[in-house]
Amino acid sequence: MAALTDDWSTRHSVLANAWRTAALINALSGTGDREPQPKPAAEAAAGEAVAVAEVLREYGESEPVELTPDDVVRMRVAALLLREVFAAEDVDAAAAALNRLLAEQTGPLRLTSHGGSAPWHPHLDSHDDAPWDEWFLTSSCLALTVLLWDHQRPPGGLCASLACRNVYITSGPGPARRYCSRRCATRERVAAHRRGQRATDTKSHSDSGSGNS
Ligand SMILES: [Zn+2]
Repeated sequence: MAALTDDWSTRHSVLANAWRTAALINALSGTGDREPQPKPAAEAAAGEAVAVAEVLREYGESEPVELTPDDVVRMRVAALLLREVFAAEDVDAAAAALNRLLAEQTGPLRLTSHGGSAPWHPHLDSHDDAPWDEWFLTSSCLALTVLLWDHQRPPGGLCASLACRNVYITSGPGPARRYCSRRCATRERVAAHRRGQRATDTKSHSDSGSGNS
C-alpha cells in the first residue's frame, strides 16, 4: 500500500501534472518532435489521437486510454486556451490569464478519491467522468495555479526558438529557462555561432576591400 501511495504521489504531484500539461500542449499545438507529414485528413486525425494517447500513458494515465478524433479537436481548443498562460510576460500577466480561465472554463474546487481508488485530491472539473478536454483544461489550470502560487513566477513559457512552437514548465532554482529542450537550445546556439562567424567573415572581406581602394 505504501508503494502504491508513493507511486501515486509521484505521478500526481503538481509538477508531474504541469509537465503532462506542457507535453499535451506540445503534442496538440506545438512543434513536438514530429515532422509534419502530408496524410489524408482522416488518417492524420487518427494518428494524432494515438500520439496524444501515448503522452497520456507516458504520464501514468491508466488504461483504457481511448481518444476519438473529436476528443483531440476539443483538446486542441483547450491547449490553445492554456497557451495564453505560457505566453504571459510576467507573473502578473500569468495570474491574469489563469484567473480568466478559472472564471470562464473551470468548475468550483472539489475533492475526489475516484470512488476510493486514489487518495483524496482536488479537481476543478464537473465530475470524475468529465470528457477528456474538460479534464485536460481543468487539471492543467489547477497545476499551473499551484505552481504560480508556490514559486511566485510564471509557471512556464514559450520556447525562444522561432522555429519551435513548444511550451515548457519553469521548475527549480537557477537562471530563467528560455528553450523547451536541450535540442532547441543547442540548435539556437549553433545558429548564433554561424551568424557571428558570417559577420566576422563579411567584416574581414570589407576590411581587405577598403585596404585595396
Ligand atoms: Zn523549442
